[in-house]
Amino acid sequence: MARRKKVYEGKAKILYEGPEPGTFVQYFKDDATAYNAEKRDVIEGKGVLNNRLSEFFMKGLAEIGVPTHFLKRLNMREQLIRQVEMIPLEVVVRNIAAGSISQRLGIAEGTALPRPIIEFYLKDDALGDPLVSEEHIAAFGWATQQDMDDMVALALRVNDFLSGCMLGVGIRLVDFKIEIGRIWDGDYHRLVVADEISPDSCRLWDIESGQKLDKDVFRRDLGSLADAYTEVARRLGVLPSNVTHAAKPTLIN
Ligand code: UDP
Repeated sequence: MARRKKVYEGKAKILYEGPEPGTFVQYFKDDATAYNAEKRDVIEGKGVLNNRLSEFFMKGLAEIGVPTHFLKRLNMREQLIRQVEMIPLEVVVRNIAAGSISQRLGIAEGTALPRPIIEFYLKDDALGDPLVSEEHIAAFGWATQQDMDDMVALALRVNDFLSGCMLGVGIRLVDFKIEIGRIWDGDYHRLVVADEISPDSCRLWDIESGQKLDKDVFRRDLGSLADAYTEVARRLGVLPSNVTHAAKPTLIN
């Protein structure tokens, strides 16, 4: 196959030019980073799991009428996506206090929030992705007030969908981050969920045991990240239940 042109390389994914204009191929790497890439490692199989999981969530969202950039999965590590104009914000939805909101506001981790809380962070590694207000976003032109209203509506629908998916398999969706892009049609644009939805960008706690099944396993050195992601994929039926990440030989009676 002809060498593809790399369009962008991020911490966990690479974007290549796609086969048709207006498309990209999104490649999922095994690299894990945390704390603005101060902590990093290679987790064998993570890219394969996130490619599958993101496909699963994006397809489910499309089925309930939430537009996404996803077109189709191409192979173990790659998916075909629509090229979108990325809004330079991370949209975080929180159902339970954890991570930065706990630290910033002194709310104990695990406290149920009175309602889902939506926050915007500016995507800027050099600044450490600072929390920004709607005033900042409008004043600096990162998105319009209409975009922000649409982003909140989209984020809440994703929250309901993901919370339901997870609840069905005994997992609590504590919080998650999405990124949103614009697709232009003449002078008009609509917003779509872009980037990825995977345990890299969610907090997922087992309802019974409280066990963490997300990137906090890596951030806080709590065990095998690949095992945690495999467990999420297995419960959701994204992997057959007899396939484990380690693929250890098992005796069949
Ligand atoms: N998150 C993310 N990318 C980021 C920052 C946060 O995917 O650059 C996710 C994170 O995994 C969690 C949610 O957004 O599910 C809220 O993260 P938080 O603000 O608590 O930041 P953290 O303490 O995880 O850095």
